[in-house]
Amino acid sequence: MRKFILLAFFFHILSLCSTTAQDIIYARSCIKTLCSDNFYGRGYVNNGDKIAAQFIKEEFAAQKLLPLGENYFQSLGFPVVYYPDRVDIELDGQTVFAGHDFIMNPGCPNINGTFKVLVIDSAMVDNSAEFERISHLKLKNYFLVVDDLKGKTLSHPKRVKSILANEMHAKGLIYKNNESLVWSPAMEFAPFPILYFKKGVFPDLVLKMEIKIDAAHKIHGTQNVVGMIKGKIQPDSFIVFTAHYDHLGMMGKETIFPGANDNASGVAMMLDLARHYSKNPPAYSIVFIAFAAEEIGLIGSYYFTQNPLINLKKISLLINMDLMSTGDEGLTAVNATEFPDWFNNLKMCNSIGHYLPDISPRGKAQNSDHYYFTEAGVPSFFFYLRGNYHHYHDIEDTYEELTLSKYPETFQLMVDFANMRMGR
Ligand SMILES: [Zn+2]
Repeated sequence: MRKFILLAFFFHILSLCSTTAQDIIYARSCIKTLCSDNFYGRGYVNNGDKIAAQFIKEEFAAQKLLPLGENYFQSLGFPVVYYPDRVDIELDGQTVFAGHDFIMNPGCPNINGTFKVLVIDSAMVDNSAEFERISHLKLKNYFLVVDDLKGKTLSHPKRVKSILANEMHAKGLIYKNNESLVWSPAMEFAPFPILYFKKGVFPDLVLKMEIKIDAAHKIHGTQNVVGMIKGKIQPDSFIVFTAHYDHLGMMGKETIFPGANDNASGVAMMLDLARHYSKNPPAYSIVFIAFAAEEIGLIGSYYFTQNPLINLKKISLLINMDLMSTGDEGLTAVNATEFPDWFNNLKMCNSIGHYLPDISPRGKAQNSDHYYFTEAGVPSFFFYLRGNYHHYHDIEDTYEELTLSKYPETFQLMVDFANMRMGR
């Protein structure tokens, strides 16, 4: 009998766990899917972001979330420069690889041709005769290597400024001593090309550089993905979980930026939370928004605040999750200083649950999708995890690199914190 009671108790606990627990296996599979080559880095080449949006929509539908917008989609568009075709460079016949060896500046315009390379050092700038000589070269046939000038106070700051602003009309500039290759998208073409090479890649002497960069421009149609679980007691009071699903896409035909930590990790946690709440219907309504076009300037979330699908005044709390794959060093809460009572609640939840080693406050910052909601008067936080992970906007931010070491703890902290919401 006692055995039976114990067993019954055990199954009771098990059933509790199965309805309230996070599902790290599910989260991993979401991240793996979102980072796979079939999603093209969730950017603008091959409409990778649309493929990701479709995946998220299907996950929302599988959890029977109520669709907001047009069958979960809120459409929007914006201009973008993208690189669907060739991004090829050869240095004296040696191929170097986009993403691995070099990147371009955001919005880098088309380049096609063979160019000479001129290293400009500070001595050349300081020497008037030499500077005069350079000025008379046909610089449109040259790329100028300018590492030696950047950030230095030389005796001729105007000359330095004019070189770095490319007022001498070189074909483009080169920085060759970069520790990491961090890229971003752009809406419009940059005025001239800048190439950033990884330290050690660009030889001291290059006679001939062959470059073919096919830059394209379009108005890109995209969509936020929005679903809801209706509250049992207060259906018109909302808690909102958000995460951006877009990333940088591709740089040419071969190079993909998978964006595992940024932000497949946040999307996975959001989808897992949707699963959790669909099995455990909440008292208040919970809205899940996967934002498009964060990387190009918070476009998706800005659009939502201007065209809200729910009453923004009825949002009691918005939690934006971006960069959620670590946590060994703790969590940072952007907007902590804006909403100190909420922040204290967060810390309390964390100490009661013994979840993360540290919860750090940060002030207001325009650095993710919470921002325009804060501006619209919505109590909102942006949470990111800290730990031993250093890939950011580079091609090495891959699924394989993620540990998700504090995933279960963070998930539970999100649930506990959302439970403590103050009425509004
Ligand atoms: Zn991000």
